Amino acid sequence: MKNILEFFRNLPPKMCADCGDEMHEQHESYMNQCDKCLRHGE
Ligand SMILES: [Zn+2]
Repeated sequence: MKNILEFFRNLPPKMCADCGDEMHEQHESYMNQCDKCLRHGE
């Protein structure tokens, strides 16, 4: 259990390609933009 926790901690924060905000939503891990920018783009 400890190993998987450290694995996630060592992951670099995913940043929105548009506004640079850190993204924590795992369900959007395939996206390059945060929810705000995604909505704004559409
Ligand atoms: Zn954004």
